[in-house]
Amino acid sequence: MPAPRNTAIRDRHRATIARGKPPCGICGDTIDYSLTVAPGEHGKRCTGPTCTGCVPHPMSYVVDHVIPVNRGGPDILANKQAAHRMCNRAKSDRTDGGPILRRSGSLTRPNRT
Ligand SMILES: [Zn+2]
Ligand SMILES: [Zn+2]
Repeated sequence: MPAPRNTAIRDRHRATIARGKPPCGICGDTIDYSLTVAPGEHGKRCTGPTCTGCVPHPMSYVVDHVIPVNRGGPDILANKQAAHRMCNRAKSDRTDGGPILRRSGSLTRPNRT
């Protein structure tokens, strides 16, 4: 019997967390769970003339791993919390204190002063 697809578990966790509509686990502010994309913001590859926006809204809901997966955090519900997309991004920029192998081309990092 094949193992269930990982994305299915993630989707379920995401829905489970969203059901309680918790505030952002990083900054503590409320999250607008209806936000999806930033209206009028378009990605480089967007070509749709009817598109009203296709870039994820910075304040939209994402699932944040309390202990980041790339630092050994398990992909389980207990290690997940709701967060703003931008908070999640800021956190992942901040918590990689150790030597982490990054994909080529992204080794430079702004000084954290
Ligand atoms: Zn936040
Ligand atoms: Zn677009």
